[in-house]
Amino acid sequence: MTARCRIAASSAVLLLCTAGAGPVLAQPPAPFLMGGVTTAPGTTASANLKVPGGAGDEGTIIPFTVVNGSKPGPVLALIAGTHGVEYPPVLALQRLRTAIDPRTLTGTVILVHVANMPSFLARTIYYGPKDGQNLNRVFPGKRDGTLSERIAHVITTEVIDRATHVIDIHCGDGNEWLRPYSYWVVTSAPAVVAASKDLALAFGLDHIVIDTERPSDPAASVYLANTAMTRGKPALTAESGGWSRTDEESIARVERGVAGVLKHLGMRAEGQPPVAHPVWLGRNEVLRSGFTGLLYPMVEPGQTVAQGTIVARVTDFHGTVLEDIRAPFAGEILYVVATPPIAKGEPVGFVAERAAAVPSIGGGTGRPGSLRPGVGR
Ligand SMILES: [Zn+2]
Repeated sequence: MTARCRIAASSAVLLLCTAGAGPVLAQPPAPFLMGGVTTAPGTTASANLKVPGGAGDEGTIIPFTVVNGSKPGPVLALIAGTHGVEYPPVLALQRLRTAIDPRTLTGTVILVHVANMPSFLARTIYYGPKDGQNLNRVFPGKRDGTLSERIAHVITTEVIDRATHVIDIHCGDGNEWLRPYSYWVVTSAPAVVAASKDLALAFGLDHIVIDTERPSDPAASVYLANTAMTRGKPALTAESGGWSRTDEESIARVERGVAGVLKHLGMRAEGQPPVAHPVWLGRNEVLRSGFTGLLYPMVEPGQTVAQGTIVARVTDFHGTVLEDIRAPFAGEILYVVATPPIAKGEPVGFVAERAAAVPSIGGGTGRPGSLRPGVGR
């Protein structure tokens, strides 16, 4: 054993050592204790993690399910609902709860059904209703912080720290019209970066943004998936669906992606093969509005645009044009905001250019990106 071995915080039996690109596992199948509930090997159990109250709020809950396989193996955490109006991932996890059979599963799957319950119930995009914070900007969180920070702290300590692999599943938020894609972060330890690339391929989305600018400090990891990676866990942020919709294809795409990852990690025999020839996206930019007013999208997600193409138009509240927001370089539109309200500084769309080269593992990139993810990511 080395310093990289971890004993799962609430399980006296499960011993995981992260070495190289994947976990080395020992021990017979063990009960999995989470949120005060013990899930025996070969069974599934659901309960709620408690987020304690703080100044001005009574806390909240994080509903979860543990599918504990009959053989020991990886601990895969699937997290939905980090943002409040992102429904296909939430609905996919409802299905996966019963679709993943613990009797034939190797390892353990943790399903976080709704990470951000305050935002989900209040139907708020981007920001939590109590504190105005973006949950996916406050990781690893604080035990005694704002409600969003306390949620992040519980997810970090109870879920991410228990997992060997983490997938944070998003879609376009309630105002965002999006084509499916994922983010591959290349700023962590080489073995983690390499294993995260494999996760992205296994999840199967055919557009992958090469993310070169995420923090590497575990104390200031900011993003959920980045929190896992800075702690040595391969991770992925996936995007499927959006615009408040609950369409079947966006839900099924998540189900297929999870099945592909389960197969890739050796947790289950069936599952789709990895995507063979993804579109790697390098230079990318979130375009933002310079004004507050009404937004008119002028492109669709998946559309190829030339440099200078008008992505969106902003008018004042009487209809006078204030700004045409243009693509700063040729590329593909991954999402565009498709509802009228817009505030100065908010994202209006995301454009990305095909990567000239896929980074060599370890951080060297073919072309540096300029990623500034939108507030909803
Ligand atoms: Zn999101």
